[in-house]
Amino acid sequence: LINDVLGYEEGDRLLRLVAEFLRTVEGPDCICCRIAADNFAGITRCEDTQVLDSGLCQLKEYMRNSGMDEQPFTEIPVGVYRFRAGDGKQSLDVLVNYANMAHKIAKERPGSSYVFYDDSIRRRMLEDTALESEAEAAMEDDEFKLYMQPKIDIQNGNQITGAEVLARWLSPSRGLILPGNFIPLFEKSELIVKLDRYMFEHACRWYRSHLEQGGRPVSLAVNVSKAGLFQNDFVDYYTDIKAKYSIPDRVMELEFTESILAADTELFAELVVNLNARGFICSLDDFGSGYSSLNLLKNLPIDVLKLDILFFQKSRDIRRERIVVSNVINMAKELDIKTIAEGVEDMDTVEFLRKAGCNVIQGYVFAKPMPQEDFEHLLTDNQDGSFEGC
Ligand code: C2E
Ligand code: CA
Ligand code: CA
Repeated sequence: LINDVLGYEEGDRLLRLVAEFLRTVEGPDCICCRIAADNFAGITRCEDTQVLDSGLCQLKEYMRNSGMDEQPFTEIPVGVYRFRAGDGKQSLDVLVNYANMAHKIAKERPGSSYVFYDDSIRRRMLEDTALESEAEAAMEDDEFKLYMQPKIDIQNGNQITGAEVLARWLSPSRGLILPGNFIPLFEKSELIVKLDRYMFEHACRWYRSHLEQGGRPVSLAVNVSKAGLFQNDFVDYYTDIKAKYSIPDRVMELEFTESILAADTELFAELVVNLNARGFICSLDDFGSGYSSLNLLKNLPIDVLKLDILFFQKSRDIRRERIVVSNVINMAKELDIKTIAEGVEDMDTVEFLRKAGCNVIQGYVFAKPMPQEDFEHLLTDNQDGSFEGC
């Protein structure tokens, strides 16, 4: 990022500063080197971890004093391997590799931090590598299942208006794997685009057979990751699949997570207009979880705002929480945007949201995500009636 934004010269300067600093700490008990690119390594004798903390502080101080302002992106992730008895028999490469694994984990965390290697890191990495290598074949074998979580219209007699489609990996060898264990991994590569497209096509296929069996029309939402949105053929792919299964307009909903806004708001707004014209409903997912700026909504022609689960995890001051939520709902209403509250777990909150004018609830209070067959049964059992939850 520094190379891209500030140029290579500035990037080189930063590397030289780190090298200079490391020279100042070298001595009989500490040696350092640059391995490659922006990776440095060192071995030090160290009685307690405070020495490492103060080392990191000194390095940051050194950079600040050298005129390299501490930019928010000059983070220094450090991976540490602690020598153990018997390690002398291992090759140095192996030990550096352990530190490297810890470094990778440190890089995933925000800010400058230390991560100590332990065997669970190695196990996790091996597990991740295995999952990654099995993923494509698993998609070909239809191991990813569509779970559906009902969405309930609380302004309209608690009718089921649709569902969000959520991925579950049912692996013959590993059992049921939840999205938290593979989505972040897939997001590191193009696998996430493949999975999103797989989910969308399977959702369309299900919807077609649902309609053919006389099922009642509901809306069906799938998640679209940031990487998927920026594919050149993104709009065409989703439009073609929708046409392939003759899905009517305004049935399929695409959920885009709020963090997409950080990438390119204008491009996103353009895509939404385009998708609307092709009969898709567009929603902004996880609203309020991080980057949201209410101001952005004024130029964003989305149909649905999904209030993040964080809004409904009991805060210390429920009165203030409710003022914020009802004002967001009001503002959305004035902008002609529907609101869905996610992660609602109690009836008290349902009643508050109903009064506040929120349209739809998706939360455990009514139903958890369920296999598609169960959702089908739920739809037949609750043809027109009010849904009390399951
Ligand atoms: P999400 O899109 O925000 O989906 C909602 C998550 O909240 C689901 O978790 C759902 O089970 C959970 N949830 C719903 N109501 C409640 C509640 O009342 N209480 C609590 N505690 N949780 C509730 P799930 O199914 O584990 O999915 C996690 C995340 O994985 C999703 O968050 C989504 O970001 C991602 N994901 C799942 N399937 C896909 C997919 O096909 N593609 C992409 N790109 N992401 C997916
Ligand atoms: Ca979602
Ligand atoms: Ca969400």
